[in-house]
Amino acid sequence: MKKYNFNAGPAILPREVIDGTMYAVNGYDGLSLMEISHRSKEFGGILKDTVSLFRELLDVPYGYSVIFLGGGASLQFCMVPYNLLETRAAYLNTGSWAKKAMKEAKFFGDVVEVASSEDSDYTFIPKDYAIPTDVDYFHVTTNNTIFGTELFTDIYSPVPLVADMSSDIFSRPVDVGKYGLIYGGVQKNLGTAGLAFVVVRDDILGKVSRSIPTMLDYGTHIKAGSLYNTPPVVPIYSVFKNLEWIKSVGGVGEINARNRRKAALLYDAIDASRIFRGTASVGDRSLMNVCFVMKDEYKELEGRFADYVSARGVVGIKGHRSVGGFRASLYNALPEEYVGVLVSLMKESEREVA
Ligand code: PMP
Repeated sequence: MKKYNFNAGPAILPREVIDGTMYAVNGYDGLSLMEISHRSKEFGGILKDTVSLFRELLDVPYGYSVIFLGGGASLQFCMVPYNLLETRAAYLNTGSWAKKAMKEAKFFGDVVEVASSEDSDYTFIPKDYAIPTDVDYFHVTTNNTIFGTELFTDIYSPVPLVADMSSDIFSRPVDVGKYGLIYGGVQKNLGTAGLAFVVVRDDILGKVSRSIPTMLDYGTHIKAGSLYNTPPVVPIYSVFKNLEWIKSVGGVGEINARNRRKAALLYDAIDASRIFRGTASVGDRSLMNVCFVMKDEYKELEGRFADYVSARGVVGIKGHRSVGGFRASLYNALPEEYVGVLVSLMKESEREVA
């Protein structure tokens, strides 16, 4: 059966990325990508091209480094404060991932929570706050994968702005120059799991007084060009293929236009529905993760709807275990047509109830 993959991550990837990665894993020239040295000419070329495409497509300015590291975004929750937090850091608490990032930062110094929407089940992104000037950095999560809210603007910060962009990287143009550091896991919009990307302004590093273990020091990986140790070669290759795909469709501007159309289609259907309602505050609704539930009077039909769509090939719309309901992730690779299929099934379900 044809599958419509709305998984939140690992998530849908363009067919070209899967085929291209398979081709390299299968091996050209008699050797698989998995069998060659990470220091070989071949892999060196792939890594170099991956970094330069990343820089080109995200328009990364001079003075910033782009590195790839194992350990996912969660390791960055710790590496960021290890490398940047001398006394205190400020965090915007917009969801479970932001909270996990704050938990790690507390191992290294004081954490100032400048604002939080936790009391409202993280249904919005707080806006009325001032960024303290006596902190080492200000951390935001630009897309809250679990709660379906997104920060669309590259805010001005008087201290280095650090962003977890795990679930919206390459979904829109980013003014990288406004940030001190951007990081994320690649398994949503970029490639296969097990890898994180880090974009860092070089001049914010080397300022903390503590000693940093070699592998946790950004400087190590910048100096070694992401080859200090053996990096996750297959995930890096999948990122390379994905960046090629992004370029081939017209870059992040075009990707963003597509993402806007897809999200509008689904949010319009939710807003017009008698049986469904969105959970996130309208102005902050994510283009990537669309969260919705059945209205209270139809709550008991959630299981039936889940079975109905799953029998028709829809995969991965169950809400995160901590919030329930539904979540349709509309990452870059998800075709517009899939959103149309989901919307039709929602309308059919509504007619059945009527
Ligand atoms: N931050 C955000 C916003 C995420 O969505 C996730 C994963 N869903 C993470 C961090 C953690 O990523 P990883 O599993 O790569 O550690």
